[in-house]
Amino acid sequence: MAVQIDAGRFEETFEEYSAIGATERGGLHRLTLTDADRDVRDLFVEDLEKLDLDVRIDELGNIFGRREGTDPDAAPVLIGSHLDSQPYGGRFDGQLGVLCALETLRAFEDADLETERPVEIVNWTNEEGSRFEHAMLGSAVWAGVTDLEEALALTDDEGTTVREALERTGYDGDAACEAGDVHSYLELHIEQGPYLEADGISVGVVEGSYGMAWLEATISGETDHAGPTPMHSRSDAMAAAADAINRIHSLPNRLSDDSVATVGRMAVGPGSINVIPDTVTFTIDVRSYDDEIVAEAIENVEFEIDTACRRWDTEYDLEQLWRISHTEFSETVRSAGLAGAEAAGVSYREIVSGAGHDANYVNRVTDAGMLFVPSVDGKTHIESELTEWDDAVAGAKAYAATVEELANE
Ligand SMILES: [Zn+2]
Repeated sequence: MAVQIDAGRFEETFEEYSAIGATERGGLHRLTLTDADRDVRDLFVEDLEKLDLDVRIDELGNIFGRREGTDPDAAPVLIGSHLDSQPYGGRFDGQLGVLCALETLRAFEDADLETERPVEIVNWTNEEGSRFEHAMLGSAVWAGVTDLEEALALTDDEGTTVREALERTGYDGDAACEAGDVHSYLELHIEQGPYLEADGISVGVVEGSYGMAWLEATISGETDHAGPTPMHSRSDAMAAAADAINRIHSLPNRLSDDSVATVGRMAVGPGSINVIPDTVTFTIDVRSYDDEIVAEAIENVEFEIDTACRRWDTEYDLEQLWRISHTEFSETVRSAGLAGAEAAGVSYREIVSGAGHDANYVNRVTDAGMLFVPSVDGKTHIESELTEWDDAVAGAKAYAATVEELANE
């Protein structure tokens, strides 16, 4: 029989953590390495110490707690997620995964369960990338994808560096931020999409996640007066941008069923009501499970911008800000996840992730995998983000069983 979690304790802990950085409308505002994030980290470390775990903080502020196994030489199973949130985000994104991992270790203690492998819990720094613009930063450096010095030098809007924020909060640890020998990694997360809820299923065993690219386009035209300048003699950067963006939104329809395109940020210069804009900068996020579709989408984005700029007598510059290929999670962790969900007696199915998670970077250096629980209406990154508590408990049960499975591999 699989190890038993304590659903009541799990919920109490979830409420306790959710109070730190809570917003008036039931959400969470806990940006990386702010006071709220420091407070929740302090509570987390305290909880790890209560479990007699060997706690260490690495150079990027990632927090680890190690529970020994019976084989001292065996590589550990790593479990966890992130405690930082989006600005005025939800309580479930990231936090639920960390607390599932914590409840798993508590349940192991309750049962005096010995595992062959050590199990290490982790809270990754700056997963959201909303204060310091590099999503999944802690796991990226840990996995060797991003350089440590580069990460420490990143700044927020006020010019504060990651290094300064770590020092200020006391989370500038000594442990090396590097993977070392790890057997596997398991992360539970909310789905953030509508599919599990639509199927009435509690747990998704994640096959892999979408490839994605972030681009930034800058369109340059000429300012002029909004009145006397006739339409035919304008070089209007906004007209070109609007034209291109409209077509970018219809790209996924032509490319594939699963592809998506988003223009989420825009700046207009000079930004005056009666002046024709000479600069429009906007971002484009394109995703698909198929990397070739992402490549095709990038080409098409450039084509649409180029065409719109010709039409409106403007020029453009297109820059790729970030790109990640699609991830196929480890077969070992996927089958452990299926076995864990089965052992826990919950409803489950396989699923693909449209969002990136720490597990994506971790998967580059070890066998990684994820479990999803449903998001009500598929909504996320908003204060009303919700996972029905029964589903969260089902997820925690499947999670604990899967960790047990992996730790005895
Ligand atoms: Zn997350």
